[in-house]
Amino acid sequence: MRTTDPLAVVRNLGILAHVDAGKTTVTERILYATGTTHKRGEVHDGTTVTDFDPQERDRGITIFSAAVSCSWSGHRINLIDTPGHVDFADEVERSLRVLDGAVAVFDAVAGVEPQSESVWRQADRHGVPRLAFVNKMDRAGADLDAAVASIRERLHPAPLAVQLPVGAEDAFTGVVDLLGMRTLTWSDDGETREPAPVPDALREEALRRRRLLEEAVAELHPAALEEFCDTGALRTGTLAAALRELTARGEAVVVLCGSAYRNRGIEPLLDAVLAYLPSPLDVPPVRGTHDGAEQERLADPAAPLAALAFKVTATATGRLTYLRVYSGTIEQGDTVRDVTAGRAERVGRILRVHADRHTRLDRAVAGDIVAVVGLKTARAGATLCAPDAPLVLEPPGTAEPVVSVA
Ligand code: GDP
Repeated sequence: MRTTDPLAVVRNLGILAHVDAGKTTVTERILYATGTTHKRGEVHDGTTVTDFDPQERDRGITIFSAAVSCSWSGHRINLIDTPGHVDFADEVERSLRVLDGAVAVFDAVAGVEPQSESVWRQADRHGVPRLAFVNKMDRAGADLDAAVASIRERLHPAPLAVQLPVGAEDAFTGVVDLLGMRTLTWSDDGETREPAPVPDALREEALRRRRLLEEAVAELHPAALEEFCDTGALRTGTLAAALRELTARGEAVVVLCGSAYRNRGIEPLLDAVLAYLPSPLDVPPVRGTHDGAEQERLADPAAPLAALAFKVTATATGRLTYLRVYSGTIEQGDTVRDVTAGRAERVGRILRVHADRHTRLDRAVAGDIVAVVGLKTARAGATLCAPDAPLVLEPPGTAEPVVSVA
């Protein structure tokens, strides 16, 4: 990873979940924690900011994807909404394609449910590295260990819990971070307290779990195994680096827990997104075809443009085409080729979409996710390219009609 590269601080993130596991609430709390929204939207009163569409608010399910950018610890997180409902499988596929990493949300009582399994398999097919967030730890019957066991049994990667819950059900007030060996707690209204040392009552159990985590990681990761054999333990730095690599390879899933509803566990989740999920520089180059030949394009702003339109919405701002730029740079006024439709298009304003507003950009570069105004015909699924360097990122025929969002 080139750490000086501005792309190193970008995370293109999706939240995946079974309907009702809490995806909307987690998204909402992420936007709140990152200062993108200043008011906590509640799912039940229809004020959630990722749900742009009145129809969606009525139904209480997330139908339409939208990409929202927010900031956390000097990083930009582009949050891509993925529909959790099976009826929107194509849209889920398309949003999975533009992600570099995801958080899978589970219900702490139900654990892995049939629909979480199908979303998980879809993410497997797209090779999306994932973290697991066991939500609803405040519910009666919430059980992190049982949820972890169900991830192991039903989804098969090695689930590696990096937290120990503090308190249970109604009294779930925080977590022990097993890497930093510190306690993070939240007040009754969800405000974060300063990290504190692990209390004596939990110390032995925290050390036992840290040891189990080190053993599990050493078993999966050769360099970690070497250190473990040499010294009888793993340094936190080695542990974190190994977790990052195992996540990228899909061999393990880092498990965190919280209660989105009570605004508990969101900040550590965001820290884990930065620590363990890849930036656009860390993922393999995008592949496409031209004249029947496969090509690769690097996430390099100087390479020819290749971008995928993954969502088109008609809004008050105009027709918004959400793009994942895979390589090259796109600027306002550029002429690009919609390879899928076989037409040239003129790029209008380029927008970064926040929860409740847009900001204008002069350009967008490889790795970024933005919305473009002014594209007249490009549909979801279309590849946009430099006119002299065509490439198809998704086979023709998969493009879908415009979704109208008042
Ligand atoms: P989605 O369908 O996955 O987007 O789930 P929602 O975010 O809409 O949540 C489904 C229901 O679970 C709503 O009634 C939420 O208020 C509730 N919920 C979400 N997170 C939590 C949580 O942490 N604890 C509890 N007890 N309920 C939650």
